[in-house]
Amino acid sequence: MAEVVLTGLGKVYGDGTRAVDDLNLEIRDGEFLVLVGPSGCGKTTALRMIAGLEHISEGTIHIGEKVVNGVPSRDRDVAMVFQSYALYPHLNVRENIGFGLSLRKLPKKEIERRVREVAEVLELQEHLDRKPRALSGGQRQRVAMGRAIVREPQVFLMDEPLSNLDAKLRVQMRAQIARVQRDLGVTTVYVTHDQTEAMTLGDRVAVMKRGVLQQVGPPQELYDRPVNLFVAGFIGSPGMNLVTTRLDRDAEGRYWVALNSDALLLPESVLHQRPALADHVGEDVVLGIRPEDMEDVALADAQEGQLLHSVADLVEAMGSDVLVHFPIDAEPVVTEDTKELALDAGTEDLPSLTKGRDTVMVGRFSPRTR
Ligand code: ATP
Repeated sequence: MAEVVLTGLGKVYGDGTRAVDDLNLEIRDGEFLVLVGPSGCGKTTALRMIAGLEHISEGTIHIGEKVVNGVPSRDRDVAMVFQSYALYPHLNVRENIGFGLSLRKLPKKEIERRVREVAEVLELQEHLDRKPRALSGGQRQRVAMGRAIVREPQVFLMDEPLSNLDAKLRVQMRAQIARVQRDLGVTTVYVTHDQTEAMTLGDRVAVMKRGVLQQVGPPQELYDRPVNLFVAGFIGSPGMNLVTTRLDRDAEGRYWVALNSDALLLPESVLHQRPALADHVGEDVVLGIRPEDMEDVALADAQEGQLLHSVADLVEAMGSDVLVHFPIDAEPVVTEDTKELALDAGTEDLPSLTKGRDTVMVGRFSPRTR
């Protein structure tokens, strides 16, 4: 196992496209790091540079103690799992999993033993004699994983390995990947555009946009303290509501915003976390509110400065949650209503607070829906 260190990593393609720009990341020994971002943000390019499948334009990559910039892929001791699985159709599961070991000319007995062990971990024992075309999508995905695991590499590199699976299978395989990685403790870099995968799998998550790293940290930190509007909007499902509004301060030093003709009082904790807000009185700011930080309360229970009138235009029952959509100053907003939140009415805790180029605030408010 080894740490992977990217220093000033950059990639400019032949046509001048800058896919990765000055990427600095230290992926710790045994860590599960998820690179996430929208399509085209450069995450696959970064992964392929680590794998040795893409020429590095700028910067350096260390794997363990070694700079690997000029080292061919096969000598980097990394194993990659692709979105397409890239299985050999003419080989059965046993031969597909053992292929890399056969290339290395390991003794047949050892190959057989290691393939059997891996097949057991991935519950593929019954399918060892089958060809890929006779396997389900989930089984193929596990064979692709098996092929990476059996090599016992220093680093796993995974490029959207679950995106060809249906939603239910994706959840199952996600848990399996998490378990296998935890048990083996192999340093892993995992690329996805799916923020739910990123949040559930990553020890840390690195968010990229247009080739530039925006923020890296544990999932909860990104959720609670996104450093800019992009991360605030990208992390979380449904996403954070972002509404532009004017910030005011009253004679008692309390801060207010106006939404839907209601004056809303910002919880004091918001100001403790973001003292810089004081510099933006009288200016437009972006208010960010997580869907679960609003609650539907009875009018009689609403406290001063916490009531936001709106009329729900769509209610979606999701089983455990109900999503209520309503407008704030003509912007569509969504709130997640649960029993727990209803019990919690009127509290002012947990403002998850964010800072954008100007200022982003998050508070807990009580919209009334009908
Ligand atoms: P996706 O999730 O869609 O795979 P990504 O975040 O992995 O996207 P990359 O595939 O790394 O993004 O691409 C980053 C940028 O580099 C994109 O603008 C893409 O069009 C460009 N790009 C990728 N490969 C090449 C290439 N061979 N030549 C020129 N530009 C490329």
